[in-house]
Amino acid sequence: MIREPLIFEISDPGKKGYSIPKLDVPADPSALEGLPLRADIPDFPQVSEVEVVRHFTRLSQQNYCVDLGLYPLGSCTMKYNPKVNDRIASFPAFADTHPLAPAGMVQGNLEILHRMEKLLSEITGFDAFTLQPSAGAQGELVGIMLVRAYHESKGIPRRYVLIPDSAHGTNPSSAHLSGYEVKEIKSNASGRIDPAVLEQAMTDEVAALMVTNPNTLGVFESDICLIAEIVHAKGGLLYMDGANMNALAGVARPGDFGVDVLHLNLHKTFSTPHGGGGPGSGPVGVKKILEPFLPVPVVAKKGEAYALDFDRPASIGRVRSFFGNYLVVLKAMAYILSLGPKGVREMAEIAVLNANYIRKGLEGVYDLQYDTASMHEVVFSDKIQKEAYGITNLDIAKRLIDHGFHPPTMSFPLIVHGALMIEPTETESRRDLDLFIEAMRTIAREAAENPAVLKEAPHHTYVRRLDETAAARNPIVAWDGRKA
Ligand SMILES: *Cc1c(COP(=O)(O)O)cnc(C)c1O
Repeated sequence: MIREPLIFEISDPGKKGYSIPKLDVPADPSALEGLPLRADIPDFPQVSEVEVVRHFTRLSQQNYCVDLGLYPLGSCTMKYNPKVNDRIASFPAFADTHPLAPAGMVQGNLEILHRMEKLLSEITGFDAFTLQPSAGAQGELVGIMLVRAYHESKGIPRRYVLIPDSAHGTNPSSAHLSGYEVKEIKSNASGRIDPAVLEQAMTDEVAALMVTNPNTLGVFESDICLIAEIVHAKGGLLYMDGANMNALAGVARPGDFGVDVLHLNLHKTFSTPHGGGGPGSGPVGVKKILEPFLPVPVVAKKGEAYALDFDRPASIGRVRSFFGNYLVVLKAMAYILSLGPKGVREMAEIAVLNANYIRKGLEGVYDLQYDTASMHEVVFSDKIQKEAYGITNLDIAKRLIDHGFHPPTMSFPLIVHGALMIEPTETESRRDLDLFIEAMRTIAREAAENPAVLKEAPHHTYVRRLDETAAARNPIVAWDGRKA
C-alpha cells in the first residue's frame, strides 16, 4: 500500500499545475496596479496538474463516507441525505443572497424561515421556533438561557438543573455555562428515569429537568407525562434534547407530552450529515410562556410582508450572526416537504424498525445491558467477548473497519461499560443491514477462534492502530520542511 506523502513532500521548485500558451499580446502590468497581490506564498507546493489530481483523489479514497456504506455511529444519525436537498441549497438565489440585504429585498428568503418555523412547530407541537443556533449544543445553551430568563422574570433564576446519567455530555455543559449547578438523576434497571427518584430530587430550587427522549440508550421515556407533571408541580420547566427526533417525528410530539422547550438537530434528523465539522443547525422550539424571551430578530409576518422584529424587550438577545446556517435550514425544509406528513412518519417508523432488526440479529451474540425494545438505536456492550477472550469494544470496532464498515459510537453512554452504540438510521436497505449483522457475527466468531486478529486490527487500512491519546494530545498539524 502506498503511503501518501504530504503535498509539500512531493513539491519540486519550478513545477506548475497548469499549462497555457505564452502571452501573444503586449503585457499590461498597470492592470494589476494597486491590487493587494502577494509577491510570494511561503512553502507553496509546486506540483504538476496530474500530481495534484492524484494526490487528492488518493486521499479521498482513503476516506469512509455515507455515500460508501453504513455509518452506524449511534446518536449521530449518519444517514444518507438525498442529493436534491444539496442541489436546492446551491441555487444562486439562496447561496448568493447577501446576509445584510434589507428585508424588503429578501422577502422570499424570510418567507422560507417563517414557513420552516411553522413546519417544525407542527412536527414537534410547539408555539414558536428560533432557527439561529448553529449546532445541537448551541441549541441547548439557548434553551437553558430561555429557562433562566423565564425564572428571572418570576423573581429568581433558581439554582439547579437535573440531568439523567445517560445524557449526552453537552447537556451538563450547557447547564453549567448558563450558570446552573448540575444534579445527576440515576437511571433505573430499564435505563429510564425513575419518577420516584425524580420526585425526591425535584425541589423549588430546580430550574429545569433536561431529558433526552428517546434517551441515548435508544429507550423511550414512557413515564414522560408523569415526569412533566412532577417537574411542573414544583414550578420547574421540562427541557428536551431532541437530537434523536428521527425516532419520533410524525408519531409523537414533545409539545403534547409536557415539554416546554426543545432543541432539534436538523443536521441529523432532517438532512445534512452530522460530523466532519460541517455546518449544523440546532433550532429551539418553545411553548407560549417562553416565546417573549426568544433571540432577536424574530421573523414576523405583517400582512403579506415579512419583517425582522428587533423590538422584543424580554429577549435574551442575538445568539448567532445573521440567520443561523441558512442553507442547512433550507436543506431540512426541502427534505420535510419532499417527504410530506406521511413520509416524515415513515422515516421514524423505519429508523425504529431498522434498529430493532439489528438488535434481533445480534441478540445473544453481543451483550445487551437493558432488556427494553429499541427506538432508533441499540446499545450493545463487549461484556461477552471481554469476559471470555479479553476482547474489548475497541478491538471489535477496529475489526469492523476490515469488514468494510465504519465503527459504531463507542464507550457512550457512560452507564454502559464497553458500549457499542449502533444507529443504522432509516436509509439503510435490508441487504445492507444483513451485511452489517453478518460482519458483526463474524467478528464474534473471530473473537473466539483467533483473538489476535482482532487485537491487531485493522489490517487493511492505510494506517493501523494509532495511539489515540498521543494523537489527540500531540497532533502534528504543521509540516516541518523535511522530505520523506
Ligand atoms: C449530537 C447530539 C447533541 C449535540 O449536537 P451537536 O450538533 O453535535 O452540537 C446533543 N445531544 C444529543 C443526544 C446528540 O446526539
